[in-house]
Amino acid sequence: SIEEVIDAPEDLQTRAPIVTVMGHVDHGKTSLLDYIRKENVIAGESGGITQHIGAYGVQLENGQKMAFLDTPGHEAFTAMRARGAQVTDIAIIVIAADDDVMPQTKEAISHAQAAGVPIVFAINKVDKQTSNPDKIKEKLASMNLLVEDWGGKIQSHDISAKTGLGVKELLEKVLLEAEILELKANPDRMAAGTVVEAFLDKGRGYVSTILVQNGTLKIGDYVLAGRNSGKVKAMQDERGKNVKEAGPSTPVSILGLDGAPQAGDKFSVLEDEREAKDIAAKRAQLHREQSVRTQRH
Ligand code: GDP
Repeated sequence: SIEEVIDAPEDLQTRAPIVTVMGHVDHGKTSLLDYIRKENVIAGESGGITQHIGAYGVQLENGQKMAFLDTPGHEAFTAMRARGAQVTDIAIIVIAADDDVMPQTKEAISHAQAAGVPIVFAINKVDKQTSNPDKIKEKLASMNLLVEDWGGKIQSHDISAKTGLGVKELLEKVLLEAEILELKANPDRMAAGTVVEAFLDKGRGYVSTILVQNGTLKIGDYVLAGRNSGKVKAMQDERGKNVKEAGPSTPVSILGLDGAPQAGDKFSVLEDEREAKDIAAKRAQLHREQSVRTQRH
């Protein structure tokens, strides 16, 4: 069944944090995500991540890992939350130091606070002559958001998403924040998590990027994702490399679902295919009935 299985404390292991990047338009969210994607080389592998699958995992030189949701902006964050999905552990809020704390910055801050997600500020574009990081920190202080180098508790780091200055240190601060959260998962159970994005690929059929939040997903598992289901035929990581398993906090794109679930849909692995199909069919039926009702009203 799809009831929540409570894990025994002794089965839990530390998992990597899942990070979302938010902030005002043009403050450098995409640039930061691109820089991290390109520069972070997973141990033993050469070359950056070239695929865009909606999420990617990175590993620092010291072996510590983290996963990034690769859709900047809080639209994706709020859309997921609206569907009941709590995916983000830590929010990086990017603020351009040549600008100001803007309306979307404030929105991002309130979204993170409402979700109880700790914030790490990335004070960006410090390579620019016109940048003034202290002005931003002063503004934040006036909003009751005191950053660390101003004697507060909120982590912040001056960066340039363009040159990469400070990005490594920013990620180290994210990991520090993750340690405080003591994020845990049980890798030895059937997988559960959230759909990040899904689309129909001409040659491969439905491709769904999912984020495993608990358990380990394996090839051959029967997955129920929103109103869709199917047996996992293949899995690929953010490098397009085939993988056989995906543990907690790992994003993977999977093949084998009978449709494209929506971003924010929860997924879980069920014991048998029949049950997964039945629940998906019932949900689809319910959805059709609800759509008809909304059209009538
Ligand atoms: P987004 O809308 O928040 O995703 O912002 P983008 O990443 O698209 O960046 C907006 C503009 O600012 C682009 O022209 C970037 O090249 C530029 N930009 C982003 N980060 C930096 C930075 O650290 N330094 C400088 N000089 N420009 C930057």
